[in-house]
Amino acid sequence: MDDISEYRRTDTEISKCSVTSCCGIYVINDTDIFNNLKETEFNISNVIGRAKFALSEILGKYMNYCAFYDEETRNQLVSDSDVEYAIKNNEFVVYIQPKYDIKDHTLSGGEALVRWNHHSKGFLTPDKFVPIFEKNGFIVDLDMFVFETVCKMQRKWLDMGVDPVRISVNQSRMHLFKRDYVENLKEILDKYSLPAELIELEITETIAFESMDVISEVLKRLHDIGFKISMDDFGSGYSSLNMLKNLDVDVLKIDKGFFEETSNSKRGQDIIESIIDMASKLGMETVAEGVETVEQAELLQENGCDIAQGYFYAMPMPISDYENLQLSNRKDKSEQI
Ligand code: C2E
Ligand code: CA
Ligand code: CA
Repeated sequence: MDDISEYRRTDTEISKCSVTSCCGIYVINDTDIFNNLKETEFNISNVIGRAKFALSEILGKYMNYCAFYDEETRNQLVSDSDVEYAIKNNEFVVYIQPKYDIKDHTLSGGEALVRWNHHSKGFLTPDKFVPIFEKNGFIVDLDMFVFETVCKMQRKWLDMGVDPVRISVNQSRMHLFKRDYVENLKEILDKYSLPAELIELEITETIAFESMDVISEVLKRLHDIGFKISMDDFGSGYSSLNMLKNLDVDVLKIDKGFFEETSNSKRGQDIIESIIDMASKLGMETVAEGVETVEQAELLQENGCDIAQGYFYAMPMPISDYENLQLSNRKDKSEQI
């Protein structure tokens, strides 16, 4: 590794690149064969798989070059068969968190958030498994499952003669590596003959680590189909403004952490006001996430934010509860008229 990190060639373009290396290590103890790996599992691809999993823990963290597969990593490991079992047995459940129009407090949309009703580990929130799925690639299938579930729900509403509000689904950056990502979404959309504008795709700024050209191209193709695109967690990372400059997105979601920390000070409020202002200049809709108090809701309203999402308004809820809510919202509206 030392040799590699010192590798330089002076005569070519390569001299401009620094080269780093990392490795994942799985130490085989004799007892592993009997205890941790069943005899049938003990083959070389399993062993390599474990080493690779350890490696995925440190990829992108430049100071760490070596990772060992250990007890903690072992607990995180989810196998293909676990996920297959979960999908077959409907263990993944889609919840919807309503979003409200900040001016008239009517339901204006929702965000799909996945949960795992695990047969032995119990009810798991996404922070327990989404980061793992992002490393082992299962997130791609899971996102498609959530997307299809939402399409199915929207179709049901249309069949009932009701105009449903737009629902957003989270999209991992892993999709960008899949050649047929856009086609897959389109195929599912067509299966339910659903107008694309009933779905919003949420991307986060971690996507900024990929090539801007590639992302712009993917976003253009998604826009051509008719999807709305939102930038999630705006303000939480390093490259929010850079992304905004380069990418064509319709909705800006102001990160909840950012909002929590700053809403109590004048300076924080000025920043929120400026973000909303900037988004409006760019022709974008603003959504504030994590709104927990009436004071926060009022502040957002005063500053012209369009939509709010948070515990103050409603928690994420099972689809059936959300459907009842949508129905009563319609009733409220017709009563107002
Ligand atoms: P996110 O996309 O930022 O989703 C918003 C999170 O904030 C949700 O957490 C929601 O329950 C939580 N939240 C909503 N209102 C409030 C509030 O007033 N206060 C606070 N403190 N929190 C609030 P959740 O459901 O645990 O999801 C966590 C993250 O997991 C999501 O963050 C998203 O990044 C990821 N995730 C969830 N579902 C999916 C999915 O289907 N696909 C992908 N790729 N990621 C998902
Ligand atoms: Ca989101
Ligand atoms: Ca968010």
